[in-house]
Amino acid sequence: MDNLINKINELKKQRDAVILGHYYLERDVLDICDYVGDSFYLAKKATELENKTIVFCGVRFMGESAKILNPDKTVLLVDNSAICPMANMVTKEDIDKIKAAYDDVCVVAYINSKSEIKRYVDVCVTSGNAHNIIPKIKNKNIYFIPDKNLGGYLAKQFPEKNFILHPGYCPVHERMNKDELLEAKKLHPGALVMAHPECNEGVLGVADYIGSTTGIIDFVANSDNDEFIIASELGMFYELEKQNPHKHFYPIKADQICVDMKKITPAKVAASLENDFDGVVLSGELIAEAKKSLDRMLEMAK
Ligand code: SF4
Repeated sequence: MDNLINKINELKKQRDAVILGHYYLERDVLDICDYVGDSFYLAKKATELENKTIVFCGVRFMGESAKILNPDKTVLLVDNSAICPMANMVTKEDIDKIKAAYDDVCVVAYINSKSEIKRYVDVCVTSGNAHNIIPKIKNKNIYFIPDKNLGGYLAKQFPEKNFILHPGYCPVHERMNKDELLEAKKLHPGALVMAHPECNEGVLGVADYIGSTTGIIDFVANSDNDEFIIASELGMFYELEKQNPHKHFYPIKADQICVDMKKITPAKVAASLENDFDGVVLSGELIAEAKKSLDRMLEMAK
């Protein structure tokens, strides 16, 4: 492993590269990342870096977002087959249908969407910044794509808006269920339940705190409680345990795993840097159109 890390560091120097990674990665990958965060943090960070090459450890839509925000940089996707199933659930035809049915509609996309979809979207949001952005939208009707769970959660927070929800979902968060969560609570009666808003309504109804990965990490750090049930992807446990070595964290079940995030390995990071694999290639036209919804997000989230 030491040899591999030395090799990655050498390649990073040669290529003037920086490694960005999402919390849901394997621990050995998180250890080699220069910056680790949620989708919003990583999108913002990508606009602030001077390096010529960005190695993006995550799923495809994240690397595409980094490329859209940095069209002149090389953005390397470490494993081309790492995709977000939810990002593939929405189509342009879905958007066209709703636009035809409503005169006054704002298309709001969770950042977990493909760049070909972002070009038809008015503004992107993340689970961390949606609360700042939704109140600034003038339209009454909001078509929220693709996550029905995050959209449904936001619809409750903003009853003055009419949310039309796309039926997409994150398979990892959707399969956590209320009955299993209640069983976990019986096993750990003193634990507070932290849930990501991608979870279904049943789980969110039992949660003590609902927020983005960064929101959960901040909540735990500031809480006097020392036990938590985490209704999110298991990768989060690494950061939580590092920051809070005396606190205890429990999953609902052991299958809270995003298999696509786990495809990224340190060996693949080295191969990606060495062989220029797999550079994100998007047309100038697509970048220009998709960038508007990401720029609007960064602007409106301020
Ligand atoms: S955890 Fe869910 S939303 Fe995140 S990349 Fe995996 S499938 Fe997509």
